[in-house]
Amino acid sequence: MTLRSTTFLLVLLVTASSAQEVSAPPRNIILMIGDGMGVSQVTAGRTTKGHLALERFRHLGLLLTHAYGDEYVTDSAAGATALATGAATRNGMIGMGPDSLPRTTILERGRALGKKTGVVSVCSITHATPASFLAHVPSRAMEREIAFQIAEADADVLLGSGWGWFLPKEKGGRRTDGLDLLERMKERGFRIVLTEAALREAGGGGISKIAGFFAENHVGRAQDRRPSLADLTEFALRTLAQGERGFVLMVEGSQIDWASHDNNSDQTAIEMADFDDAVSVAVGFAEKNPATLVIVTADHETGGYALLDGSLREKAVQGGFITKHHTAAMVPLFAMGPGAEKLTGIRPQSEVGALLIDLVR
Ligand SMILES: [Zn+2]
Repeated sequence: MTLRSTTFLLVLLVTASSAQEVSAPPRNIILMIGDGMGVSQVTAGRTTKGHLALERFRHLGLLLTHAYGDEYVTDSAAGATALATGAATRNGMIGMGPDSLPRTTILERGRALGKKTGVVSVCSITHATPASFLAHVPSRAMEREIAFQIAEADADVLLGSGWGWFLPKEKGGRRTDGLDLLERMKERGFRIVLTEAALREAGGGGISKIAGFFAENHVGRAQDRRPSLADLTEFALRTLAQGERGFVLMVEGSQIDWASHDNNSDQTAIEMADFDDAVSVAVGFAEKNPATLVIVTADHETGGYALLDGSLREKAVQGGFITKHHTAAMVPLFAMGPGAEKLTGIRPQSEVGALLIDLVR
């Protein structure tokens, strides 16, 4: 081979390999939603924790969170539906477009391509954010119908709470239709666990489908929750990693939002730090499994939270809120792994949802 043809071949090889790097889709996608997590919530968590796993991300963006039409301030249903389906929709709607027609979720797309799928939250799995990834209903208040659809959905891992929505009144639940959806899920191959001990016993290695509901409705605050969000995330990743074609997992830090609705600055920082512990687990997984895309973002900001003073030395913040409700402020997005470079910049939430769905291959 002449020097010239060797050089030509080298150029070809380099071009081919860099083209491959750009186009190779992620095998696994971990989408993490800090409910109500604006930039001040992130800063408060960083101050009280000292550092954040979030600081390891190098691709950052900002999301515009406005809902469909002229709804300036979004709720969790429209926000999560935009991220889950790529459709901007009306406040209150779950997994549906503004025309009340169901939209395919990122989990459903993953499933159709043979990937494993999961949802982890620290609120009832029937609540707006997790529900938007699993169900299609016109109102977030339809939690019994949402539970029914979740029981029939094809997710492999469901970890959160809210077993009351799955059981009839006769068995201590909230259903008036007599249905025992936990029984139904067992028939469909789910291992059902309702305590931390049962989850530990289930292990995670050999199990393919698991549903864990650790309270009748919502679980408690971060400092009282066992298993923790980080524990649940670790369990979900161990279970989903067994799939041959990768997985799509959504993890929600549900109660940052609630602490900010309560205008409780200390609790907001605690919930933020707790969510970041789960981010740390996801980052650790991605470091061992580099074909994993991790995205951390929010559905909206809550409280109009501002940091008025604080101390890095004493790890303390003095926060103030201007409302008990959500605000329209842009929220941060952090991404790492294959495809992360496509998610930077200022974008509407629905556009990021559409980009994520497109990355599921
Ligand atoms: Zn909220």
